[in-house]
Amino acid sequence: MPQKYHIHTKTAPPRFHPVGKYATVEFHENCAGSCRQCVKKRCVYNIFKENVLHTSAMQEPEYLYTCMSCFRCIQECTKGIFSRTINPDYRTLGDEYWRAENLHRLWYQAHMGKIPVSGAGYRGPFVGPGFDSMWTDMSEIVRPTRDGIHGREYINTCVELSRRVTQLEFNADMTLATQVPALLEIPLPLLFRLSPQLLINEHVLLPMAMAAKQLGTLMFIHPQDLTPQLSPYAANLIPCLSRDQAAQNDPMIRSSRVVELADAPGIERVLSEIRAAYPDKIIVIGMPLDQKAPARSAELALSGADTLHFYADDHGNEVNTAEPRFLKEMIRAIHLKLVSVGQRQKINLLFSGGIAMAEHMAKAIICGADAVTADHALLIALECRLCGMCRKGISCPVKLDEPLDASWACNRIINLVAAWQSQLIELMGAMGIREARRLRGEVGRSMWFENLEKDHFGPLFGERKVPGLG
Ligand code: SF4
Ligand code: SF4
Repeated sequence: MPQKYHIHTKTAPPRFHPVGKYATVEFHENCAGSCRQCVKKRCVYNIFKENVLHTSAMQEPEYLYTCMSCFRCIQECTKGIFSRTINPDYRTLGDEYWRAENLHRLWYQAHMGKIPVSGAGYRGPFVGPGFDSMWTDMSEIVRPTRDGIHGREYINTCVELSRRVTQLEFNADMTLATQVPALLEIPLPLLFRLSPQLLINEHVLLPMAMAAKQLGTLMFIHPQDLTPQLSPYAANLIPCLSRDQAAQNDPMIRSSRVVELADAPGIERVLSEIRAAYPDKIIVIGMPLDQKAPARSAELALSGADTLHFYADDHGNEVNTAEPRFLKEMIRAIHLKLVSVGQRQKINLLFSGGIAMAEHMAKAIICGADAVTADHALLIALECRLCGMCRKGISCPVKLDEPLDASWACNRIINLVAAWQSQLIELMGAMGIREARRLRGEVGRSMWFENLEKDHFGPLFGERKVPGLG
């Protein structure tokens, strides 16, 4: 039996107390003191003990995130001196896209390497903007995919980054006449990059590169961020070069398996030169996810590029426009454009920006992506709070601007990716799909609120009376 791809996880506790959701308000003056049934000792998560240690060490007055809000202390205190409230700091975490609960989930996954279980079912809104208006059809589970979830069958999460030939030609003696291009497969539809909007330094790049190597995936890097420390990981790095940099960075191109060229006029000529010099290199063309992206993708599909990489903003929105479309609509537009010109099977599509959860990876693939990149999520795995201090040149509250233990940080990133891979396998299993490549563009396994509203709710309830999505 061939070896299965499996990500080994190891618990990696946070270095700092994460900002917790709940805070306890304790009316101390009402404490009976001698009731001898103090609920503080009964907290199964030891929150009060940890709080005392935390305070006595004179650490920052942050609320601990481990309170599970079970309400035991509130219900069982003989004098009812406790009440639970939302930590005011929690409300300031993240932004409208990278919400506080997402950060909590990502922290948990990086800590434990497991899928967070909420226990009491889904309590979120029925529908929301972005990926929240798209649901995966989880009713297609079949015996092999159910067993795939439990590891008794394969569910393959591999994707290719190399170009494909769709038709083979043979010589008269039945030898292969078609030039088969170099093949590059990665075990997950997930690559790494850091967003220029936040902190990029060697302290975080090194563990990311280490994790990319261990996981068998790849990481995008700009030449100015490359340090000698990263050279052992060259095979897992994708240098992102402009047209002019490509001519000056030959050693970087030589040492990598994949190179990304920023789209620019005449980029096809640079691509042909690199292809001629290094026929085995995988060439990616990077470009903004804007209005021109669908048409440009159709042109570049004929240029011989292996993969097209589209950059949305950090919230997954189209760039360079006042009325941006979200990633899912943009992926669909590009995917369908390539289908219409008969090029989709030959080339791969990769999308960056706004991938905040494992389900976003699966939903992006359903829309038509081959793979996506994790960016802010990787920094969040290293305890980033998205406070934006680094943008203002102020020191980082979780010290990501200082040297950190690379093996601990690598461990946290691996844990996060392991949790995402488990979720992808669960989703694919429930959708009855055993190959990530088969999921690509498979919109039949999803439901879109906009379509349901138009086809079902509209005829029943008429025109929408309050503004909503779209
Ligand atoms: S609510 Fe539950 S978990 Fe939180 S402090 Fe009270 S007893 Fe502990
Ligand atoms: S915690 Fe704040 S300062 Fe540190 S990396 Fe994240 S956004 Fe930047």
